[in-house]
Amino acid sequence: MQRELFDTLCLYGLSVGYPRSWKIIIDSRQVTFKEGKVNALGNDILMGVLWEKVEKAITLEEYEERVLTNLKKKDKKFKLIRKEVDEVSGHRAFKETMETRGRSGFIGLQKGAVEHNHCIFFCEYHRRFVTVYVSLVPSLRTEYQFVIDEIFDSITCIH
Ligand SMILES: [Zn+2]
Repeated sequence: MQRELFDTLCLYGLSVGYPRSWKIIIDSRQVTFKEGKVNALGNDILMGVLWEKVEKAITLEEYEERVLTNLKKKDKKFKLIRKEVDEVSGHRAFKETMETRGRSGFIGLQKGAVEHNHCIFFCEYHRRFVTVYVSLVPSLRTEYQFVIDEIFDSITCIH
């Protein structure tokens, strides 16, 4: 299989690679250094970069708990499949794989399972929480494994 070219999405101190053929979607009204979300959409696979500045001091654990609670609320069949601790640009990061049912953004129109891969970290210089996620139909995981790896390996926090 021919490897697709990746481009680099670089904005507000964050940089991440994405396959060149994907569509870029910015649906938030306000994308600033403080908060924003940008998506890149392939075929049945979605990548997103989400960042937000926090005024109150909360830990990465608390932030992650909040993310998981919200997902659980949205979906009773929510499942946390894997969790590991990693590092992104010197920041401690959580990498998680989860599964939900039904539609999730642009993915999963057939009400089947949707797999979500998250990488969450906190930048203490910018006081921002950053989440990079890749959601896809689980049956495509093998085919897209190198894309997921390449996206996650490319995440850079420029501080
Ligand atoms: Zn940083």
